Amino acid sequence: MFALLFAIARYTIRFRILAIATAAFLLIFTLADGFSFAWGAVVWVVFLLPTIILGHSEIRQNIISNPLLKRVKTVLPPMSDTERDAIEAGSVWWESELFRGAPDWGKLLHYKTPVLSREEKAFIDGPVDQLCAMIDDWDITHNRMDLPEEIWTFLKQHCFFGMIIPKKYGGLEFSAYAHSCVVMKVSSRSVSVGVTVMVPNSLGPAELLLHYGTQAQQDHYLPRLADGREIPCFALTGPDAGSDAGSLPDTGVVCKGKFEGKQVLGLKLNWEKRYITLGPVATVLGLAFKVYDPDGLLGGEVDLGITCALIPANTQGVEIGNRHFPLNAAFQNGPNKGRDVFIPMEYLIGGQENIGRGWRMLMESLSAGRGISLPALGAAAGKSSARLTGAYARIRKQFNTSIGKFEGVEEALARIGGLTYLMEAGRLLTVSALDSGEKPSVITAILKYHNTEKMRQVINDSMDIHGGRGICMGPSNYIGRAYQAVPVGITVEGANILTRSMIIFGQGAIRCHPYLVREMDAATSEDEAIGQQEFDSALVGHLGYFVKNLCRAFVYSISGSHLAESPMSGRIGAYYQRLGQMSAAFAVTTDLVLMILGGAFKRKEKLSGRFADALSYMFYASAVLKKFEDDGRPRLDIPLVEWSAKYCLYQIQMALDEILRNFPIKWLGLLVRVVLFPLGLSLRQPNDSLSHRVAALLIKPGEARDRLTQGIFISDDENDITGCLEDALLKVIRAEPIERRLRANHQMKSDLQTYQQWLDDLLGLDLLTVKEVEILRQAQAATRKVIMVDDFEPQEIAQVKKSNRKVA
Ligand SMILES: Cc1cc2nc3c(=O)[nH]c(=O)nc-3n(C[C@H](O)[C@H](O)[C@H](O)COP(=O)(O)OP(=O)(O)OC[C@H]3O[C@@H](n4cnc5c(N)ncnc54)[C@H](O)[C@@H]3O)c2cc1C
Repeated sequence: MFALLFAIARYTIRFRILAIATAAFLLIFTLADGFSFAWGAVVWVVFLLPTIILGHSEIRQNIISNPLLKRVKTVLPPMSDTERDAIEAGSVWWESELFRGAPDWGKLLHYKTPVLSREEKAFIDGPVDQLCAMIDDWDITHNRMDLPEEIWTFLKQHCFFGMIIPKKYGGLEFSAYAHSCVVMKVSSRSVSVGVTVMVPNSLGPAELLLHYGTQAQQDHYLPRLADGREIPCFALTGPDAGSDAGSLPDTGVVCKGKFEGKQVLGLKLNWEKRYITLGPVATVLGLAFKVYDPDGLLGGEVDLGITCALIPANTQGVEIGNRHFPLNAAFQNGPNKGRDVFIPMEYLIGGQENIGRGWRMLMESLSAGRGISLPALGAAAGKSSARLTGAYARIRKQFNTSIGKFEGVEEALARIGGLTYLMEAGRLLTVSALDSGEKPSVITAILKYHNTEKMRQVINDSMDIHGGRGICMGPSNYIGRAYQAVPVGITVEGANILTRSMIIFGQGAIRCHPYLVREMDAATSEDEAIGQQEFDSALVGHLGYFVKNLCRAFVYSISGSHLAESPMSGRIGAYYQRLGQMSAAFAVTTDLVLMILGGAFKRKEKLSGRFADALSYMFYASAVLKKFEDDGRPRLDIPLVEWSAKYCLYQIQMALDEILRNFPIKWLGLLVRVVLFPLGLSLRQPNDSLSHRVAALLIKPGEARDRLTQGIFISDDENDITGCLEDALLKVIRAEPIERRLRANHQMKSDLQTYQQWLDDLLGLDLLTVKEVEILRQAQAATRKVIMVDDFEPQEIAQVKKSNRKVA
C-alpha cells in the first residue's frame, strides 16, 4: 500500500493503470486468510464505485461535474473590473512551483544569478559612494528637512532619477539588480535620500511612459526625467481612497476648452490627493482619476473608468507645494489638489485611446517597482543593523563583558543575522525574475510585505541592543531615523496588513493554481455545453492533482521527509526535502479550504493571511537555499543558511497548523492534520547553539560578516560614526587578550583610578609593555567615541523646534 502511495506521489501514472494496480493489490489483500467475505465486499464497493464513476465520462458529468458546476455558479463571487485587473496583472514564476506541491529544484538552481555589468559596478563604486559620503543625515532630517542643494544637483547630474530610462533617452538603463543595489546602498546611509531616489524609478511617470506613453510623450519627457530637469510624482491616494485606491472620487469630465489659444477636446479635472512623495517639488504630476463623458462627446458610455495623465505642475488650477511631515523623514511628501483644471487629451498617458485603461496600466506596472525599492530598503536596514549592531555589541561592555556575548543579546543578534540573510536571499531571487523579463506580482507582494516586516524586526532588535545609545537623537545616532521610518515602508505600496491578508494568497491562488482559473472560466462561459465540457476536463485534472498531493504530503511526512526529492544529499539537501513536504501539505490544505469555502474565502482574511505566510516562507526558504548555492556554498555561511531555513520551515509548519486549527469544518481539519502531520509537528525553531554561531559571526570581522553586509555604505572616515565603529571593533578585539590576562591576574582597573593612571601603574609594575599600554589606550579612546551620545544646550533644541515649525 505504501509503495502504491509512494508511486502516486512521485510518478505520473495514468488513471487506468492506477485502477488496475489498485485492483490487483485489493485482490491479494481481500483473498488473504482471515479477511471475511463481508469486509471484502465493502472494500470492493468502496473501490469500484468511485472508479467507475470517475472513469466513465458521461456518468461522471451527470453525477459529479454538472451538479458541482451549478453550485460553483451560485457561489462564485462577482468580481469587479478593478479586482480582475489586479488579479490578472503580472506573471507567475517560481511561486507557482511551490504552490503546486512539487517544486522542481533543478529549475530553481538554474535561475540566473544576478550580476552587475562593469558599468553598473562602476556607478555603484563611484557616484553612489560619492553621494553616500556627501550625506549628513542629521543635517538633512534635523536642520534642513530637505536634501541640500548640492545633493539634489548631484542626483540630477548623475542620472539617479533615470535608472529605468533607456540610454537612448539619456537614462542609465540599469538592470533590476543594479537598481536595487543603488537603492540599498543609498538607503543604508539615509532613508530620506533613499526614498527620494527610489520614487522616480518606481511606479510613476517614467515607468508608465515607457510602457504606455505615445512616442511624442516619450520623446518629450524621458530625457527630461532622466537628467532631472523634470521631477516627477505619481498621485493615486486621496483622503477617501487609500488601500481601496480603485474607489477614487477624483474626476475628469470630457469637454472642450482652451489650450494654447485654441479650442480643443480635453478634460476638466477635479481632484484631492494626499501623501504624494516628491509632490511638493514635482514639476510634472502623474494623476489617476475617473473619466466621465456626460455629453457623449466621445460617442460612447458615460462612465469610462480610471485614467492616468501627466500634468505640468504649473498648470492653472493645480495646488501643489505643501508638505506633510512623515515621522521626521525629510523626503518631500505632501498633498495636492486641482479645481476645474482643463487638460487637453494629449496629456493622457498614451493619449485618448488609453481612457479607462489606467487601473490596468497601474496594476501591470506595479510589480517591478514593488519588488525593488522597499525590499532593497529592508535589506539595507538588515545589513546595516547586522554590521553596526554586531560591532557595537562587541565594543560595548557591561559587567566587564561585551554585551554581544550575553545569551539574551545573542538571541537578538541571531535574529538580525538570520533575517538579514533571508531578506537578501529574497531580494536576489526576485531581481533575478525581474531581470529575466518576468513581472511576478505574487512574489513582489511577498517581498514588499516580508522585507519591510523583517526590517521592523531587525531595527527593533537593533534598538534594544543599543539601549539608550539608539534612543538619544543627534548626529552620532545611526539607527534612530531608520527606526522612525519603519512605518513608512510598512504603509506604502500596499499597506502590509492588506497585502498579507488579501493580496498575496488571493492573487496567488488564482494565478498559481493549475485548475482554479479554468474552472472559474468554465463556470462563467456563455455557452453552457462548452462550459460543462471545460469544467469536467478541469475537474478531472484537479482531482488527480489533489490525490497526488495528498499522497505526497502523507508519504513525505511519515518518512520524516526522507522520501521527498532533493537535488543534493547531506544536511542542506534535507532542507529541500522538508520544503517539498511542506509544499505538498500546503497544496492539499489550499485545495480543501477553497473547495469548502468557495467564494466566501474572499472574506476569510485570517485564513488567507496564514496561507500567505506559508507561501511566503516557502519562497524565502527556497531563496535561502539558492543563495547558498549561488555564493559557491561558503562553509562559513552555513550557520546563517541553517538559521534562516529552519526559521522559515518552522513558520510554514505553524501557519499550516493554525489553518488546520481554524479549519472551516472542524472534524475535517483534525483528520487532515493526521494525514499531513502523522508524526506531529516535528519542526523546531533554530536552537540555542545555532543562534550562538550566528551571533558570533556578527561580532567579529570576517568573511561571513562581510558577505552578509555586502553592498551597504560604511565610511572609512574616522570622524564618521560608521567609520568609528569599524575602527573601534578592530581596536577592541586587539585589546581583548591583554584585558583577559589582566583579569586573570586580578589587575582590572579600580574605580578610584583614571584609565591613564591605571595604565601607568601597570607599566610601572612591568605588567604591561609600552606597546600593550598603547593598544589598551587606543581601544579605550575608540570605545568612548562609539558609546557616547549627543547632548545639546537647551536653547539649541528649542530653537530647532521653532524653525522646524516654520518649515512644516
Ligand atoms: C510617506 C508616504 C508616502 C506615500 N507616497 C505615495 C505616493 O507617492 N503616491 C500615492 O498615490 N500614494 C502614496 N502614499 C499612499 C499609500 O500608498 C497609502 O498610505 C496606502 O495605500 C494606505 O492608504 P491609507 O494610508 O489611507 O490607509 P487605509 O487604507 O486607511 O488603511 C488603514 C489600515 O487598514 C488596512 N486595510 C485596509 N483595507 C483592508 C482590507 N481589505 N483588509 C485588511 N486590511 C485592510 C491597511 O492595511 C492599513 O493597515 C504614501 C503614503 C505615505 C504614508
